[in-house]
Amino acid sequence: MADHCSFCGRLRNDVNILIKGKEGHICDYCATEADKIAKTEIGRHHKNDFKNNVPKPREITDFLNQYVIGQEHAKKVISVAVYNHYKRLQNSFSADEGVEIDKSNVILVGSTGTGKTLLAQTIAKMLDVPFCIADATIITEAGYVGEDVEAILTRLLESADYNPQEAELGIVYIDEIDKIARKSDNPSITRDVSGEGVQQAMLKLLEGHVINVPPKGGRKHPEQEFVKINTKNILFICGGAFHGLERLILDRINKQRIGFTSGVKDKDQLENPYKYTTPHDLRRFGLIPELIGRLPVVTYLDPLDQKAMLQILTQPKNAIVKQYIKLLELENIKFSINQNALDYIAQTAIGMKTGARSLRSLFEHIMLDAMYDLPSDKNKKEFKVNLNYVKKKLDELKLGQSNVA
Ligand code: ADP
Repeated sequence: MADHCSFCGRLRNDVNILIKGKEGHICDYCATEADKIAKTEIGRHHKNDFKNNVPKPREITDFLNQYVIGQEHAKKVISVAVYNHYKRLQNSFSADEGVEIDKSNVILVGSTGTGKTLLAQTIAKMLDVPFCIADATIITEAGYVGEDVEAILTRLLESADYNPQEAELGIVYIDEIDKIARKSDNPSITRDVSGEGVQQAMLKLLEGHVINVPPKGGRKHPEQEFVKINTKNILFICGGAFHGLERLILDRINKQRIGFTSGVKDKDQLENPYKYTTPHDLRRFGLIPELIGRLPVVTYLDPLDQKAMLQILTQPKNAIVKQYIKLLELENIKFSINQNALDYIAQTAIGMKTGARSLRSLFEHIMLDAMYDLPSDKNKKEFKVNLNYVKKKLDELKLGQSNVA
């Protein structure tokens, strides 16, 4: 018989490619189908693997290291918390009636743009579980204008492709948790409707109840049927900048020092007082004890210095510089930026006081004209950025001298 695909039987003339194997042939159509099946099956195996085989804390940190610069302590704490969380899940799936392990929801204290969201996001990426980000300031007590806590779970459900069982294993990152602190204890809070009532509303999520979630969200679709989601196994990671908390921490430490030797050096205190955050400090800041009780793992992030900013520009797997190299490679242009230019960008970002957040917008501004012109310039094979070019571009932003650290 003439050469044909051993899978579908098509003859050589009826296909684009016929690949010869040891015993027979496979055509391009069947090879494409086989590839799809293999990918789906491999994905399914990964999921099962994860459920049977939670990555160890060190493996979690190794993964985080590919994306997040510095923040060693937060990485360690979060890796242990996540490991215990999913171990706890395995334990609850098994028939063991013994000790019940408590959930380890996490609270991250650290200035804006230092990697709080990135840490939570990266963990979810590693575990391949549904993930969503919500902002605590949009949550209101029932009855006020704003979103109900249920809306957070609507997003998680969306991220789980509307599969409630998957959503129940997900991770929720709640940003700006400090902004819902009780007003009376915290002079920097300007919101009125929030505060204690919102914290109470959030408890409903953190305590592990079955919650009726409107799959389309909001109050705009009163006709929709609710989906029940049990929040017992959802891992909540909350983050905030907690402006003013450092004063409370330092006050406490200094008071202790009058009577005892605390062992905390002044230098450490100045570097990052958040390092010494206790649940008691969070309570004085204005979080209610019930909420603090549901967020038992407290850790901090360090402010990013010049060295960290430089590393963020070039080292993470998806670093901005790597992305531009790739983008221009697609135009057959070799992109490079020298050390002085990178130093200047890092310094400028530090002056802007929004952590690594400003790096991307600065970089995009520097690159805009080139990204506009280069694709039309057929003769250009190389694009080199130096200090003068960066200075010229950043001058256009009129950031002022005070912004350049
Ligand atoms: P926040 O602490 O305010 O949640 P994000 O995690 O959202 O900050 O970070 C803002 C931006 O800065 C993100 O694009 C992130 O990639 C980058 N970034 C912040 N901190 C780090 C870090 N430690 N390592 C790598 N990138 C970082």
